[in-house]
Amino acid sequence: MKKERYELKPCPFCGAGAHLFKNYGDSYTVMCGRKYISRKEPHCGASIMMPTREKAVKAWNRRESKNG
Ligand SMILES: [Zn+2]
Repeated sequence: MKKERYELKPCPFCGAGAHLFKNYGDSYTVMCGRKYISRKEPHCGASIMMPTREKAVKAWNRRESKNG
């Protein structure tokens, strides 16, 4: 079975690792993993949803590289 590889850059806002989720249906969400690191800290709210995993990963990584 072929395993697809993808790479998620850290959250551009807080530097936490990102997580990829498959939503119900055919969409994928990349979300900041900060809430999994420390429950005391509020979730920074960074997330992105795309119809495919590839688009979600690309969009997230593009955001990471964006300055500001
Ligand atoms: Zn974050």
